[in-house]
Amino acid sequence: EYILAIETSCDETACAIVKNGKEIIANVVSSQIESHKRFGGVVPEIASRHHVEQLTVVLEEAMEKSALSFEDLDAIAVTEGPGLVGALLVGVNAAKALAFAQGLPLVGVHHIAGHIYANQLIAELKFPLLALVVSGGHTELVYMKEHASFEVIGETLDDAAGEAYDKVARTLGLPYPGGPHIDRLAHEGEPSISLPRAWLEEGSYNFSFSGLKSAVINTLHNAKQKGEEINPQDLAASFQESVIEVLVTKTMRAAEQYNVKQVLLAGGVAANKGLRSALQTAFSEKKDIELIIPPLSLCTDNAAMIAAAGSVMYKKGVRSNMKLNANPGLELKTY
Ligand code: ATP
Ligand code: MG
Ligand code: FE
Repeated sequence: EYILAIETSCDETACAIVKNGKEIIANVVSSQIESHKRFGGVVPEIASRHHVEQLTVVLEEAMEKSALSFEDLDAIAVTEGPGLVGALLVGVNAAKALAFAQGLPLVGVHHIAGHIYANQLIAELKFPLLALVVSGGHTELVYMKEHASFEVIGETLDDAAGEAYDKVARTLGLPYPGGPHIDRLAHEGEPSISLPRAWLEEGSYNFSFSGLKSAVINTLHNAKQKGEEINPQDLAASFQESVIEVLVTKTMRAAEQYNVKQVLLAGGVAANKGLRSALQTAFSEKKDIELIIPPLSLCTDNAAMIAAAGSVMYKKGVRSNMKLNANPGLELKTY
């Protein structure tokens, strides 16, 4: 079975074709980062316009690379939410038009289900499993007892991990998106500056990063007032250590409590070198839990992950109709 997927939830215009939910036939991503950089973040109106310009380009490129024709496809999958409404609308309407014109079934996919199912492109999923989702807008621990079943057992109460990275980077004068820059600086410094860890109440799997973000900003401001120098590498290393320590500790605790067979890493912040190696070290001791970490290109937004999730939903009989609409606040639910 061949699924063509479209992803336009934020600032990547993407189209992919995936076979049997596992094998990437074509995976084309057009990033708009250069256009948003000078504004220090994603400008929704600009994002929508880029999607309109780029969508047919990535669609044609994906079809060309696949050497398939539309008759070979079994379904069209599309990200219906969450994300920027104007950005989502471009993808949803293109998917509807394509499904209608080609007489193909349409499957609306949750963006975070996509991030999680990116793992299916590199490994066979074994249930029950736990996914650590760390992205620009989400920080969640998701328990899955079987395919297409999502139970959010913990989530951020304020900023997402990626958001905290981007805001800290901005304070340090680094370009958008700041995550990769902080990651690089962190490896050049020492975690010598004391910063808080938000453990929250005993046993909680929720997260909070706004206190840490404020602590970093205050550290910089206080030093400036006193005319002291703060080493940005050390500050980045200290910030990164705090984020990673909480993420890894809570993930490990949840994996043990829920007795899972696999732990999956998902979302843009999964590209973080420090987080990847800290998880690898922590889980190397746990022989009964398999840790899966996708390659960087499948961690950040792409359409192959939407096709992988779409394939599972397609097989479950999930179908959208021509009333499918963009839903910026779509909740992750069990199908
Ligand atoms: P969501 O998936 O929650 O809707 P999004 O799609 O905008 O949000 P992603 O594209 O999944 O988010 O991830 C982008 C985020 O990942 C940005 O905040 C970026 O700074 C962060 N990021 C990317 N690489 C790294 C890295 N190496 N270290 C830390 N953060 C990173
Ligand atoms: Mg993005
Ligand atoms: Fe994303």
